[in-house]
Amino acid sequence: MTEVHRNTVVRFEYVLRIDGEKADSSPDGEPVTVLCGHAPSRPPGLEAALLGRPPGYFRIVLPPERAAGAHDPLKVTTASRGEFPADARVEVGESFYATDEGGIPVTVRVVAVEGDRVTVDSNPEFAGKPLEYEGTIHSVREATPEEVDHGHVHGEGGVEH
Ligand code: ZN
Repeated sequence: MTEVHRNTVVRFEYVLRIDGEKADSSPDGEPVTVLCGHAPSRPPGLEAALLGRPPGYFRIVLPPERAAGAHDPLKVTTASRGEFPADARVEVGESFYATDEGGIPVTVRVVAVEGDRVTVDSNPEFAGKPLEYEGTIHSVREATPEEVDHGHVHGEGGVEH
């Protein structure tokens, strides 16, 4: 039986729980198909944690350092409501694009609103949290040389071309 390793095509479904609450999952219980080693690392840490696993059930709890990283308190800052576009919905949970002091684009999430004062967090979502993944690997197969060359899956769950 093939196990997950770099340049395998893995079809799996998963649920991500944080503090016991469902935070993410493969869409509507449908499996996702990834080319291992080429998929953008999303959701955080999962692809690496699947390495060496055969098809079947899995449950993995990743500490922050193996997932989205530690939560950096310096990335939590406050802004005034006037710094946001006038027509923007500035509410807890909304995300905005901004640039940091170095001019680098970042995504910030609104974590608190008190009057004119808006607290935003530019840490990656899930930073500082242990991530609990549970799911099933449906299949693992060796990628074709063409898939490795293209960096994506061909056929079921992938690119048709
Ligand atoms: Zn292709």
